[in-house]
Amino acid sequence: MPEDVVNYERRGPVAVVTMNRPDFRNAQNSAMTYALDEAFYRAAEDDEVKVVVLAGAGKHFSAGHDIGTPGRDVDRSFPRKAGLWWDHVGKAGAESRFARESEVYLGMCRRWRELPKPVIVSVQGACIAGGLMLAWVGDLIVASDDAFFADPVVRMGIPGVEYFAHPWVMPPRIAKEFLYTGDRMPASRAYELGWVNRVVARADLEAETFALAERIAAMPRLGLALTKKAVNQAEDLQGMRAGMDSVFGLHHLAHAHNAETSADSLGGMDPKKMKEAADGS
Ligand code: ZN
Repeated sequence: MPEDVVNYERRGPVAVVTMNRPDFRNAQNSAMTYALDEAFYRAAEDDEVKVVVLAGAGKHFSAGHDIGTPGRDVDRSFPRKAGLWWDHVGKAGAESRFARESEVYLGMCRRWRELPKPVIVSVQGACIAGGLMLAWVGDLIVASDDAFFADPVVRMGIPGVEYFAHPWVMPPRIAKEFLYTGDRMPASRAYELGWVNRVVARADLEAETFALAERIAAMPRLGLALTKKAVNQAEDLQGMRAGMDSVFGLHHLAHAHNAETSADSLGGMDPKKMKEAADGS
């Protein structure tokens, strides 16, 4: 039996999408990416659903992309959903990496950001690298007081995760510090900087997230959809979409450099050293 990597549940007008690999801190493999996509699609299609909550089972929201669990599946083919890039499997070098990351990382995140219903992300514990991408495609973030955020991929020679929203989410100088150090940013600091909506006690996270979801669910569906589109369009007019495209090129330059000069497209620290550095920060 394959593990159920994402759970879908409906509570009245709220769809709850829960990442379910708690033993691996909800590390995102491709199976999870496609299961998330299916869940978001289902929530979009269901007329009874007004608001979507995205959560992670267990102690942590997400440790990021799967770079070392037994369920890592980077070499597996899936029917593509985010765009028309060809399958990365059976391709070499940058052609494989660019096709794969255009689909499962940048493409999927953009697709989810456009879900025409409000998405509230409920974050506890670690929200690292690829975890940030999921938090950032949401419209609102409710975090518990033990939540923290980090993008430590500069340690692997990569200038930030694929969905490069950093300088739009936070002031550019803070974004540089966040990336240069790879340090954890506590939820309270993210709240101060204006990119987390609420910080609540860990025990209250679920109740507070649902209270907010239910208030929003009382609004008319189209009003919510158009409001979301209005703000997203404003962000894109501020250069977010074009900026991300240009940085995606730099990201792939870094992968290619790593592949050319070391054993892997992730340079610098291996997953074990990354974990030690993260535990120390
Ligand atoms: Zn990448």
